[in-house]
Amino acid sequence: MIEAAPESALPYPPVHKDKKFVVLSDWDGTITTYDSNDYLTDNLGYGREKRRAGNLEVLDGKITFRDAFRGMLESVVENGHTLEHCKQVLKQNIKLDPGFRDFYRYCKSMDIPVVIVSSGMEPVIRAVLSVQVTPEEAAEIDIISNDVDVHPDGTWSIKYRHPTSKFGHDKSQAILPYRALENPPTLFFLGDGVSDLSAARHADVLFVKDTGDGDNDLAVYCKREHIPHILFPKFEAALDVVKGIVGGTKTVEAALADGKAE
Ligand SMILES: [Mg+2]
Repeated sequence: MIEAAPESALPYPPVHKDKKFVVLSDWDGTITTYDSNDYLTDNLGYGREKRRAGNLEVLDGKITFRDAFRGMLESVVENGHTLEHCKQVLKQNIKLDPGFRDFYRYCKSMDIPVVIVSSGMEPVIRAVLSVQVTPEEAAEIDIISNDVDVHPDGTWSIKYRHPTSKFGHDKSQAILPYRALENPPTLFFLGDGVSDLSAARHADVLFVKDTGDGDNDLAVYCKREHIPHILFPKFEAALDVVKGIVGGTKTVEAALADGKAE
């Protein structure tokens, strides 16, 4: 049975039509070198141990990702941290993959849209981006993620895009409209985690970030399910592959057969 698309509580940026190529990328752990929400939880919320326990409960199916993630963020709010403070802490501590800026600028120069698809929260993502690309770039890039409700008393809570989905944000809904176009573009997707599974399988070229620390859930899953993908350690390596495909010196099939970008 095909599950009905969950209703979206948040608007989507327009679908980029008539493009030959479109890039969709996860944010945490893919564009950033460290998961920003884990950072908040571990340092300002209930801590790493409890977070890891929650991660395992999600993997065991005892709790949904949506509810576990909400609990992580609530622990940050309960400790008295405002959204503005959290943004400041993340701006100081979360770094981007050093090759992302060049990757983004190359895509822009080639009229290839780059869309960030995230389980995180848009204002937080833009805040971190603004440190590492120009303010104009941080404002213009498309982000499909969750949002934040800031309450009159200064507390805040995550506003899920798909409140009825057990992921809170069903990432497949960001990529499927491209699949449905009359002349769909070649779709690149870059990700690293479990939340990327639903979108990853609809990409033409799936890049899986592998920084060599051995705990990449998306890589494990793709291997097990025989989903063709390209492991990449950093954006610089992914850019070489993208350039080859866009420039016509490499086919999608050949890039996937390589399986690795170095
Ligand atoms: Mg991720």
